[in-house]
Amino acid sequence: MDAYTRKILRGDVASAARLMRDLDDEMPSARAALKALYARAGKAHVVGITGAPGAGKSTLADRLVEAARKAGKSVGVVAVDPTSPYSGGAVLGDRIRMQRHAADPKVFIRSLASRGSLGGLSRSVFDTVTVLDAMGKDLIIIETAGVGQDGVKVAGAAHTVLVVLSPGQGDDIQALKAGVLEIGDIFVVNKCDQKDSGLLARSLLLTVEGLAPRDGWKTPILKTEALSGKGMNELMEAIRLHRHTLVNYEAWEKRSHNMARTAFLELLETGLREFITEECASGHDPYSAARTALKKLLGKKA
Ligand code: GDP
Repeated sequence: MDAYTRKILRGDVASAARLMRDLDDEMPSARAALKALYARAGKAHVVGITGAPGAGKSTLADRLVEAARKAGKSVGVVAVDPTSPYSGGAVLGDRIRMQRHAADPKVFIRSLASRGSLGGLSRSVFDTVTVLDAMGKDLIIIETAGVGQDGVKVAGAAHTVLVVLSPGQGDDIQALKAGVLEIGDIFVVNKCDQKDSGLLARSLLLTVEGLAPRDGWKTPILKTEALSGKGMNELMEAIRLHRHTLVNYEAWEKRSHNMARTAFLELLETGLREFITEECASGHDPYSAARTALKKLLGKKA
């Protein structure tokens, strides 16, 4: 292990930022460092936040950082932004609200473009989580943009999934049926300062009540006002309790294995996609290109 990797293990921010840049540039040395770091990672509590755009995920993430810091915990944040089809960059950039934590050396925030890949969660999310974990972050928050499939896919990348809803988004409960209901470990009804939040919480309760407990955990519904910070202590407590329950039911390991499996599939898929795209660009008709690519991949079996 080189000095640079050792520095990251000690939590050095500049070295971690450099590695993340090198990973973006696909430097082979960076991949090797990541492998060494992965062997030392696995202690952080990874919390995913999903929910419709505008529900308050970003505001909530900012409050979680604040609460975790007050409790003396170090925090990493991965904010997945939807990629603009025109610029190819992270359209929202670093979340503006989060900037107030930028000077705190115990907080590391990274915005990632979802790159429009199927599922939206790019390989970089897993890479970043590994680096943050190896740095010794106690809590890592993955904030999804809440569009497309990434909202559901985050379940494979986190120990605890928060599903955020807010009143006034009439089709929220409907939308929950499209897969998000199953992945929520904690439901958060945000914007409880607004009318109809009680109604939303009640109808959500009816939906959630029918769910069987998973690993000894019955999905709670928490009410928050992320803008004012109300309800954050209770939310932090629920997150802590979820971790505790997972550990007690030996489900922590199960989740961690699932996260490793998701990362493996993501790496494989990205690699294959890159390879296949290159084959396709060879100028052949799609039939011949597919045949050649399959032959190269599978050898005689194709
Ligand atoms: P995201 O798209 O889910 O990340 O949502 P944001 O965190 O960007 O919030 C969307 C809007 O809702 C912003 O204008 C926030 O200021 C506002 N917001 C967030 N939390 C609350 C809340 O508790 N009450 C009210 N009234 N507005 C909120």
